[in-house]
Amino acid sequence: LCRSPCDASVEKERTLAMIKPDGVFGNYTDKIKEVILESGFSIITEMVVQLDEGNATVFYVEHSHRDFFPGLVKYMTSGPVYIMVLEKVNAISDWRALIGPTDARKARISHPSSIRAMCGLDSEMNCVHGSDSPQSAAREISFFFGEMPGGIVRHEEL
Ligand code: GDP
Ligand code: MG
Repeated sequence: LCRSPCDASVEKERTLAMIKPDGVFGNYTDKIKEVILESGFSIITEMVVQLDEGNATVFYVEHSHRDFFPGLVKYMTSGPVYIMVLEKVNAISDWRALIGPTDARKARISHPSSIRAMCGLDSEMNCVHGSDSPQSAAREISFFFGEMPGGIVRHEEL
């Protein structure tokens, strides 16, 4: 909600952030959360989940025709992921900018202070995810926090 004069362009936005299995296994969760908070995002909710083949396939369905898809599903189901809903003005594009390019090897050259440069390995194992548009953010937030066909296994700890 905004006070008068109310400018719609400064309304807060929410995005889905995920620390992928390599980021969780590499113990980057606390460091990444520190960067998130220092960058002015609020963490609205967070949880640890284990994806299975079915829900990883649905999450990345837009890539299901790509050669790398079977490897992507295997990677995404290789361990727990850390899911967060982030909020701030311009959250969607600001979080994408903070994580850097998809290929972590390129990120280390062109965006050395990005999160993928810090903890990613290559074009697949890039340690974090961010929604790429308002439509994806809405879909991905409801994927994890709305009704999920097949269910998501939520870990006890956190
Ligand atoms: P993102 O939005 O930056 O995460 O990238 P995309 O939506 O294009 O791809 C989704 C995920 O698939 C990426 O984060 C990578 O984990 C993986 N991926 C994307 N492109 C490639 C690729 O060329 N090769 C492999 N092996 N994995 C890829
Ligand atoms: Mg994407």
